[in-house]
Amino acid sequence: MRLVVFIIGLVLAMTLFAPALPLAQAQNSKTLEIYVIDVEGGNAVLFVPPSRESLLIDTGNAGAAAARDAGRIVDAIKDAGLQQIDHLIITHWHGDHFGGLAELAAKVPIKEFIDHGPNVQPGELADNFLKNTYPQLYAKAKHTVAKPGDKIPIAGMDVRVVASAGEVIKTPLPGGGKPNPYCAAYKPGENNAEDPMSVAVFVTFGKFRTVHLGDLTKNKEFELMCPNNRLGTVDVLLGLHHGQSTSNSPVAVHALHPRVGIMNDGTRKGGEPETMQTVHSSPGLEDLWQLHFSLLSGQEYTQPGMFIANTIDDPPSALPVAPIPAPPPGPGAPPAPVHNGKAYWIKLTAQPDGTFTVTNTRNGFSKSYNKSAT
Ligand SMILES: [Zn+2]
Ligand SMILES: [Zn+2]
Repeated sequence: MRLVVFIIGLVLAMTLFAPALPLAQAQNSKTLEIYVIDVEGGNAVLFVPPSRESLLIDTGNAGAAAARDAGRIVDAIKDAGLQQIDHLIITHWHGDHFGGLAELAAKVPIKEFIDHGPNVQPGELADNFLKNTYPQLYAKAKHTVAKPGDKIPIAGMDVRVVASAGEVIKTPLPGGGKPNPYCAAYKPGENNAEDPMSVAVFVTFGKFRTVHLGDLTKNKEFELMCPNNRLGTVDVLLGLHHGQSTSNSPVAVHALHPRVGIMNDGTRKGGEPETMQTVHSSPGLEDLWQLHFSLLSGQEYTQPGMFIANTIDDPPSALPVAPIPAPPPGPGAPPAPVHNGKAYWIKLTAQPDGTFTVTNTRNGFSKSYNKSAT
């Protein structure tokens, strides 16, 4: 009898004091939540609209980093109270974008796989993955090759493909189409074959507008944004190709007129002086948030740490003042500082009226951007 009373008491106590289920909380949400996840200079961005029909863009790095990055994505999926990924976009076939996919798919059901089509930059990693692994992953799901102009049907937010496989939209989006004054001073820039293939999406949630251009290079930005700006303006510019200077021409950054940028840079990837100058001279920019301190910024070009979500496993007492030049690619470069320990995402919460809040989950620093007058 005493035991029964004890058990009833225990169950009652658990019911009374149990925290509200995150899932139940999440289902009552009226906001769009965006998790910009630290995958060490790769990409992984999770969109969760009020319908909870989710969109993930990219899955982090390959090889030894794949389990780590997939684990970080799973943490965000759990935080959002999701049971599955409804739509996954792999922007392009670089290891820092599709690398963690097999590991992620082993942990979380993925219902639709969206990509730009075949790899155009021959390489063992991508070619083997596309031949041996990818078809098995989407065999029991939906597989979609994205075309510019496509709408990815997701309840509660509007997702438009604006570039894919090297093609860009020809017709402006609502709010776009005006002549782009930055085209006259455009300086070309290209780097490799796959970046320009990136699937790029424009996302609208009520009055809130954001764009993720994958790793589109400067030349593709020019095709998309000149002579007329087909996208119009955004509240938030996501990704910025890790903050690398092969992208982020003023024809895109300045013309998009973002109030906020959120950069998926790494410890020694992106955030170099040219990009930082372009972003910080962008008209109307209020803040840049970054996933990482980058050695390529140095103190001279860095954001204040409040806006930066991650340090490194063995943080130095001070960041050098001068930016370091990016080492030449290849095996001769000294290794970049590692960050395999606890990682923090940048969380964005948007209201349908266009108001949004950005939070640095490392230090709790948070800032709200009220609905703009325009
Ligand atoms: Zn990190
Ligand atoms: Zn990349």
